[in-house]
Parts: sequence; C-alpha cells; structure tokens
Amino acid sequence: MPYQRNYPRTADEVLDPPVVFKQSVIDAVTNFKTMGAWTGNLQEKFAKFQTLNDSLNEVYGLNVALINDIGVENDSPGSSGSSYFNPSLNEIHLQGKLSVVTFLHEYAHALDKDERDAVRWSLNLFRQVFPTQFAALGRQGHVVVVQRVVPVVEHVRGV
Ligand SMILES: [Zn+2]
Repeated sequence: MPYQRNYPRTADEVLDPPVVFKQSVIDAVTNFKTMGAWTGNLQEKFAKFQTLNDSLNEVYGLNVALINDIGVENDSPGSSGSSYFNPSLNEIHLQGKLSVVTFLHEYAHALDKDERDAVRWSLNLFRQVFPTQFAALGRQGHVVVVQRVVPVVEHVRGV
C-alpha cells in the first residue's frame, strides 16, 4: 500500500452505501472462507490466497501474479502494511503477514482502483463474506482504517 493519496478518513464513509459485487466475486471469496482462511501453516495459508487470487483472475479476466515475500516459516512479525501491487509487473506482493483485507486491497489496485476505492472495495467485500469477523472490528476498525487497512486484519486474526 505505498499510495496514501486519497485514503479515506473513516471506514464509515466507504461502507455506506455498500458496494454491490458480482455474485462470482462473492462466490470466490466465500470459497476461500470455506477453505479456512486462517488455518494451516504459512505455506498452506498462502496456497489458499493463491486459489482466491486465481478465482478473482478468472472472474475479471486478469493475470495477476501473487508473490509470497513473507517466506515459508514466519508469519508473525510486523504487519502486512508493506504489501503492494506492482502495476508494471502485474504482481501483488504480500509482506509481513498474510492478511485477507490487505490481499483484497491490493487486488483492488490490480483492478485499477485508486486508494479510496481500493479501501472501499476490500472492506465491503470483507464485510459481506466475513460478517462476524468484520463486526468484531467494532470501533477499532473504524479508527485503524484511517491509517491503514492492515491492522484491521491483525485484529481479526484468531476471531
Ligand atoms: Zn493501497
């Protein structure tokens, strides 16, 4: 998430009115949820993110590559805040730790969305498919999203 320009100031302003997604997008993320997004070791979890990335590529007719910069062992230190989308290489690089909202945020950049729309797209999609985890964010999510989407997911992990 290198771009901070146009970053929304609150979560509320990007959640209402809600984004209406194609059913195929909802299905892709729901399938990911069914696989157990937060279970397994890092390699197993990354494989699920890869499946989700492939499914979204299919829906949108894209060929975005998902790159694991985290490594194979350590999924705990730091945040995913240094993750980014590289438009010239068409690559999403996940760094720090695996984060669902961060991945969706970067995929939104691959869809050519600016910062505000990337936050809007990823948070709305997360809310629709993971309502329990999203609700658990409460006011913290509201506050945190002002700075970065990433800590929202750290807060969610293990819920
Ligand atoms: Zn961004």
